[in-house]
Amino acid sequence: MQIDSLPTREGLGKGLFPILGKVIYGKYPLVYLDNAATTQKPRQVVEAMTEEYYNVNANVHRGVHFLSQQATDLHEASRETVRRFLNARSTTEIVFTRGTTESINLVASCFGQAFMKEGDEVILSEMEHHSNIVSWQLLQARSGIRLRIVPITDDGLLKMDEYEKLFNERTKIVSITHVSNVLGTINPVKDIIRIAHEHGVPVLIDGAQSTPHMPIDVQELGCDFFAFSGHKIYGPTGIGVLYGKEEWLDRIPPYMGGGEMIKTVSFERTTFNELPYKFEAGTPDYVASTGLAQALDFVTSIGFDAIQAHERDLTAYAMQRLMEVEDMKIYGPKEVSLHDAVISFQVGNIHHLDMGTLLDRLGIAVRTGHHCAEPLMRRLGIEGTCRASFALYNTREDVDALVEGIKRVKQMF
Ligand code: PLP
Repeated sequence: MQIDSLPTREGLGKGLFPILGKVIYGKYPLVYLDNAATTQKPRQVVEAMTEEYYNVNANVHRGVHFLSQQATDLHEASRETVRRFLNARSTTEIVFTRGTTESINLVASCFGQAFMKEGDEVILSEMEHHSNIVSWQLLQARSGIRLRIVPITDDGLLKMDEYEKLFNERTKIVSITHVSNVLGTINPVKDIIRIAHEHGVPVLIDGAQSTPHMPIDVQELGCDFFAFSGHKIYGPTGIGVLYGKEEWLDRIPPYMGGGEMIKTVSFERTTFNELPYKFEAGTPDYVASTGLAQALDFVTSIGFDAIQAHERDLTAYAMQRLMEVEDMKIYGPKEVSLHDAVISFQVGNIHHLDMGTLLDRLGIAVRTGHHCAEPLMRRLGIEGTCRASFALYNTREDVDALVEGIKRVKQMF
């Protein structure tokens, strides 16, 4: 499928995504299928950041001078771009963080401090990334909270009836991923949120793997918190977002102390800044926020209708072609409409590391290992998988190259 607004394969090297024009081990073009780990950056993101360093750079918020005001305007305009992207009610609900991991840690730490005591419970699922497990375990070590886990089916779907049974008077928050970075499962987050709210429990959605692939409307979802990372959606590293409903952000304490997050400081008493600055201690990465805004503009200009149509086609095509390979096992939902652009697989008894290393020599970049989801690996009874994950610049030719590559690796064993 060729969609007019999507970059063409021929244009990749010279045009939008320079890195995809790289020759690796004499192979061209690079077949980059590690997008769930991080995406490549379109030229406009890198150029906007370079331009800001060359022509605008100054610390934001406190400066009266020209450059500081210009940098502040850019930074706050980026916050508005994020607000629009998520359809949040106000920019006061958009907190810049370093990424999904920091956003989740912030909620676990601050919500935990305000609302959870020994014996209280958080509901997670069996398919969470370590960042949505360990953050809560740190709170557990501090406050004695309990982790309750929603199990999954063999096809990698949440057992929703078991989810409902986990609620009791000690349940204080639900924290669940929108899309699994291993299985590609698209979780029914609207139902998850509705059920939690029926029990009066707020919900944090880990949007690290959903934001690059589908439109997000936090008001429509009704989630209380939503976390994502810039680098997974064509933006720079080192920046991410925590969306939080104002009523929650108002009621939880700050995460870190320092400049920016205060109103007044004395040795006796400090008062905190208004939202969202209360959660943004220290100099923010104001250049990365510009890059993130450019990335979101880039995605918006292509449009999720085109992106989803393209990536769904790629996923369906890849699932079908991969099954041509003898001894192929694909993890996660068989139903393509429930399966996002992430495919974990295992071929016979070829170790995933061997498969990944040999594919690399053929110019095909996939990820191998436990994908920061060791409890899920344990549930699946495996140590790791090979994972191919797609972005809007991937094509059916990339899938063909992957399948042919796997067949060649298989012949070597
Ligand atoms: N959550 C999920 C589902 C992820 O896939 C990832 C990264 O792979 C993260 C959280 C952590 O994201 P980051 O490392 O950008 O903070």
